[in-house]
Amino acid sequence: MSRLLPYQLADNTTVFGNDHFRHYLVGEYQDVMIECGVTASAKHFVSQLTDSGRHAPDKLLVMHAHFDHVCGIPELKRHFPDAEVLASPAAAKVLDNPKVVAGFFDQDDQIVGDLGHDDAKADTGQSPRPKRITVDQTVSGGERITLKGGGTLELIDAPGHSPCGLAAWFEKDRVLFVSDALGFQISDDTIFPIFFTLTSHTWRPSNDWQNIQPTSWPFPTNASGREMR
Ligand SMILES: [Zn+2]
Repeated sequence: MSRLLPYQLADNTTVFGNDHFRHYLVGEYQDVMIECGVTASAKHFVSQLTDSGRHAPDKLLVMHAHFDHVCGIPELKRHFPDAEVLASPAAAKVLDNPKVVAGFFDQDDQIVGDLGHDDAKADTGQSPRPKRITVDQTVSGGERITLKGGGTLELIDAPGHSPCGLAAWFEKDRVLFVSDALGFQISDDTIFPIFFTLTSHTWRPSNDWQNIQPTSWPFPTNASGREMR
């Protein structure tokens, strides 16, 4: 059974989201949001944040430019217009391509229906559907984001899952954010791999790496049974 969300993963790391998507707030003042999800999960995040009485994030960090990691950005910006969007140069290029972004939002629309997400229906506000998703600042592996309350988030180039991928190491809490680099979390203690060998297996994180945080849980299949990703 999954844990109730949101919960405090470590002193300065809070996990928001649901069984399908995770959003993280990092820093003593929770200034950096890691993972931007889809429109439905962004709406859910906003309601969780409001209920928890916490501050809005100042920065939204894109871990890689796949639809399920970026389509929540316009909805997040609707609620947090001053939040700055950070992404790798390669991700920024993808998000500046109207054809790709239109395809992303097609998938985003579909996943709302597939998830049957009540939060998306409850919010009557119109979610923006921009032709491009604006990145305010590009960031790369080796750079550090300084957090308001002290400590830094060290960025690491992580191109294995997507060429534009980033990972982030939060030394203060000793949490490594890996996005989809290891696979998809299918329960509290199992990660389904994104690569396969003849003896395909699932990962069972030991206590030594319990603070490696993947992003999302397995994707639902659409009506044709095709896995959506
Ligand atoms: Zn991905």
